[in-house]
Amino acid sequence: MGKASKDKRDIYYRKAKEEGWRARSAFKLLQIDQEFNIFHGVKRVVDLCAAPGSWSQVLSRNLYVPAKQSPDCKEGDLPLIVAIDLQPMAPIEGVIQVQGDITNARTAEVVIRHFDGCKADLVVCDGAPDVTGLHDMDEFVQSQLILAALTIVTHVLKVGGKFVAKIFRGKDTSLLYCQLKLFFSQVTFAKPKSSRNSSIEAFAVCENYSPPEGFKEEDLYHLLEKVGTPSGVDDLDCRSGWLEGPNKVYIPFLACGDLSGYDSDRSYPLPITDGGSYRSLDPVQPPIAPPYKTALQMKKASSHSASRDAMKPSTDS
Ligand code: SAM
Repeated sequence: MGKASKDKRDIYYRKAKEEGWRARSAFKLLQIDQEFNIFHGVKRVVDLCAAPGSWSQVLSRNLYVPAKQSPDCKEGDLPLIVAIDLQPMAPIEGVIQVQGDITNARTAEVVIRHFDGCKADLVVCDGAPDVTGLHDMDEFVQSQLILAALTIVTHVLKVGGKFVAKIFRGKDTSLLYCQLKLFFSQVTFAKPKSSRNSSIEAFAVCENYSPPEGFKEEDLYHLLEKVGTPSGVDDLDCRSGWLEGPNKVYIPFLACGDLSGYDSDRSYPLPITDGGSYRSLDPVQPPIAPPYKTALQMKKASSHSASRDAMKPSTDS
């Protein structure tokens, strides 16, 4: 399958290249912002699982660059954007990069250090494990990433702040909703127009961070476990309707982005140049250390040694 066919099949992939985004995911964050105005008043933000960096680009272009260009903005007032990923990423203006695992407690410490005692207004997490295709398994691993992100949220997000996280819709969606509702007064599951209908992906948009009274960060997992057990809810005001039984939990679900705009599941004709052909654009920023790099190196090395072996004179008599 060539580059041009992907450009045709996936309009957001093509648009991302045209507009200089490193990944088509940029449109998901932009469309979530169109609906929820998540960037309003944001000065400090954490981008979890950020590589190759299209969400960080969105944050930079919407928060950092306009502030830097404003004549009234002083150096100390510039928005602070901290991006974390297992993978390194190429630099982005105004984005501090941390290479680390968000499930590791030390990563949260590094983020906190960057905020120098101040709290973030917004935390976003587009984290995704390598999808296996086994929905239950993928949903479980994804939920572990969300819990890791929530741990960081409880350490760095200011009261009243917002959190946006990728989720995989599955049988535990109600449970996740209730767990998030413990910490945010408003939780909506959103499906941006740029996210394919065929994908179980959606985004939890959590507004107004307001942890339970007396909440201590070290009690997070204990508290979340209680939400999942019927005996635990008696002494826990979940604020979510869980007390009425799991089947009665109402999860606000919203499609967002320009609903009459491009459909991510449709093929679109390619724009033809004056010469009568279509010229596909190169990717904006290829990953600088993709996980498959080692595999390619190993494959190359083994095919070299196989061809060397083939050229060796035979020792058989
Ligand atoms: N938002 C990104 C963008 O717009 O370019 C795309 C994120 S990509 C879908 C998912 C990322 O999650 C990958 O870069 C992967 O390395 C990262 N990731 C997965 N597990 C992680 C973990 N435990 N800690 C940090 N990053 C992780």
